[in-house]
Amino acid sequence: MTAAATGATGVSPIAQWDTIVIGAGIIGAACARALAADGRRVLVLEARSVASGATSAGMGHLVTMDDSPAQLALTTLSLTLWRELGPTLPAAVEYDPCGTIWVAADEHELDAVHAKQRLYATHGIASEVLDPRALATLEPNLRAGLAGGLLVPGDAVVNQPRAATSFLEQARALGATVREHHVVERISDHTVHCADETLHAEVIVNAAGAEAPRLTPALPIVPRKGYLAITGRHPGFVRHQLVELGYLAHAHTMSAASVAFNVEPRARDEVLVGSSRELVGWDTSLDREVLARMLARAAEYMPALATMAMVRAWTGMRPATMDKLPLIGAWEPTRGLWIAAGHEGLGITTSLGTARLLADLVAGRATSIDVTPFSPTRVLASAEPH
Ligand SMILES: Cc1cc2nc3c(=O)[nH]c(=O)nc-3n(C[C@H](O)[C@H](O)[C@H](O)COP(=O)(O)OP(=O)(O)OC[C@H]3O[C@@H](n4cnc5c(N)ncnc54)[C@H](O)[C@@H]3O)c2cc1C
Repeated sequence: MTAAATGATGVSPIAQWDTIVIGAGIIGAACARALAADGRRVLVLEARSVASGATSAGMGHLVTMDDSPAQLALTTLSLTLWRELGPTLPAAVEYDPCGTIWVAADEHELDAVHAKQRLYATHGIASEVLDPRALATLEPNLRAGLAGGLLVPGDAVVNQPRAATSFLEQARALGATVREHHVVERISDHTVHCADETLHAEVIVNAAGAEAPRLTPALPIVPRKGYLAITGRHPGFVRHQLVELGYLAHAHTMSAASVAFNVEPRARDEVLVGSSRELVGWDTSLDREVLARMLARAAEYMPALATMAMVRAWTGMRPATMDKLPLIGAWEPTRGLWIAAGHEGLGITTSLGTARLLADLVAGRATSIDVTPFSPTRVLASAEPH
């Protein structure tokens, strides 16, 4: 099928696109880039502006995560792609291969550090166990008395809205068109319905993040709220992405509100402080009590943070699925529709892996990792087709 747009005049202009990506967050941007690189004629439709959703609200931590074998496979693939691409991106994208340190507060968490190190070793992922002295040398602003940590040197940090912008610039250079302030109202077989036009394409990708269910209502994606705060400039205060070992449990629980120590060095020497997780629907308000709990947790690990002014604090909505895995692949109930959404707190990390898998699936190529765990059809048993 070739692309066509039918406007109010009823006249179809010359076919221009065979692929429409809905959403210009980091997932849509990465998919647009990968699909354009395959020679597809891509149109990106974004309701607001590029990277205006979760992508700009989050952190830019590119992190290996092992909550499940599928998550480990996707983050490992993605980190490999980031390590290839990151150094070639414009300096403004601020790709920084600073690595992650998982911080162990006590001997129990140190056992978890050793288990993580063994797991990573079996997957060929470099990591190094740090004793308290090595941890203090690498990060002198952590409090004394911590049990140690795990350095994962292949992890990185990026300025994520600029990465999305850069992906779209690359897609444009390959012939893609990006339309901002263009709301998609509905999707049907090979068709995208907007307020003032109807567009047809062979391939349609729903990459609308936490809003993806508004277009494909059976998708089990919910907004999962997170808080962040940022300091002024403090050169050298933090050198790696620092995360408490307990973050994994915090990321895993889907019930109560939780906070965890997670700080990120930004290129302009600010310290980005997170993080929190709660399920409160689309309520984006900033609750001072949750923010205070999050900052208090951070200060337990880096006491000097308590003396630093927070220049700004904000909230964002992670696109969460109940099984903690994104939806990547064909949406069988709607012909021509593909899903790339539901990346929760790992969408910056997994953007490149998601785009690679989606492009391989669209092209009918073999994928480099098993895509079964990410198949959107896993939710169909309990879903109404749309
Ligand atoms: C506090 C916080 C911290 C985070 N930290 C990290 C981290 O350190 N590392 C990491 O990997 N991930 C992190 N994340 C997660 C990451 O930000 C998200 O997983 C990722 O941004 C999701 O990208 P997306 O493109 O799917 O969604 P979005 O960025 O939300 O993009 C979706 C886009 O679709 C558009 N859209 C929606 N509906 C329509 C429509 N009907 N028509 C047209 N366009 C539409 C929206 O306007 C939006 O721009 C964090 C998230 C939060 C909130």
